[in-house]
Amino acid sequence: QGSVKFQSKNIEWFRPETLEELVELKDKYPDAKILAGNTEIGVEVKIKKMAYQRYIHVTDSIEELQQINVTDNGIYFGAAVTLSELKTFCEKRAEDGNVFRCIANILQWFGGQQIRNVATLGGNLVTASPISDLNPIFVASGSSAVLVSKSRGSRILNIDQNFFTGYRSTVIAQDEILTSVFVPNLSHHEYIWAAKQSRRKDDDIAIVNAAIRLKLVPKSDEVADSILVYGGMAATTISAIKTSNFLVHKALTPEILDQALHILSEELSLPSNVPGGMRKYRESLARNFFFKFYLSFRNWLS
Ligand code: FAD
Repeated sequence: QGSVKFQSKNIEWFRPETLEELVELKDKYPDAKILAGNTEIGVEVKIKKMAYQRYIHVTDSIEELQQINVTDNGIYFGAAVTLSELKTFCEKRAEDGNVFRCIANILQWFGGQQIRNVATLGGNLVTASPISDLNPIFVASGSSAVLVSKSRGSRILNIDQNFFTGYRSTVIAQDEILTSVFVPNLSHHEYIWAAKQSRRKDDDIAIVNAAIRLKLVPKSDEVADSILVYGGMAATTISAIKTSNFLVHKALTPEILDQALHILSEELSLPSNVPGGMRKYRESLARNFFFKFYLSFRNWLS
């Protein structure tokens, strides 16, 4: 098909064919908007009345952004892989407690079929919405973002609390392109779980969501490492670090659960004027997700 450029009075629209061309274009026009599934940008332009002068369309033309590469250490998911493709891939690999089950489960409740057919995992990460459904899983699983630009070359950044710098912003530079997200393999001693609460089952954003991972010391029920990640409880995807730290070196017994829930309540308490409202409901969802995780984790252990 070849590279394409359309131009109107106000808008330039590029469709590069190779990653090299894409990198060149983004270097030349750092303010150009990369357009993948258009499910965020469409809302920005139509409803929020934001205007962009240049678009770089990456939906279907650049091989590196479309691929899913399985390696010994984990999987690289191309940034332009659609959520429907991601769901189908993860469903085939889903096992109790693994990250694929987690992603496949959450994607059932992500938007609706039409959204999932075009929306991409890269678009979800880069948007950095505080209620993103995938970002808590990326953080909890220790995933990383693979980026490329002409000025910096290639770099890999951990998708952790520092990755999200504020409401809908990340450390990704303006001239950088997300090529893939690397999701590492978890060990047999690790259990990851995710949940979402929204008003409707279909086509609705989360009120609160969570992804929680525990790693056990081999052949023991002692927690070696833990991470509790929440959406809908702050301006960014956040980790409940105090609660996570409390769990380390302990067995997750009913007594420890009670204490952890207490710490979590304090750590994730919301101010009375919190944007989005529903303060008590959101606080109780955060606690209840941890309780549900606990039940599911005990089940996995037995
Ligand atoms: P686009 O709109 O194409 O782009 C979004 C942003 O990412 C833009 O800033 C773009 O420049 C940037 N970008 C995209 N690809 C790259 C790249 N490779 N490198 C650098 N920057 C890039 N979200 C949820 O989390 N859960 C939901 O349940 C949910 N439901 C929705 C329901 C509806 C009806 C709608 C309209 C949206 C919903 N969303 C939801 C939000 C949205 O669908 C997701 O964030 C989606 O993953 C965005 O992907 P996209 O490919 O459409 O992004």
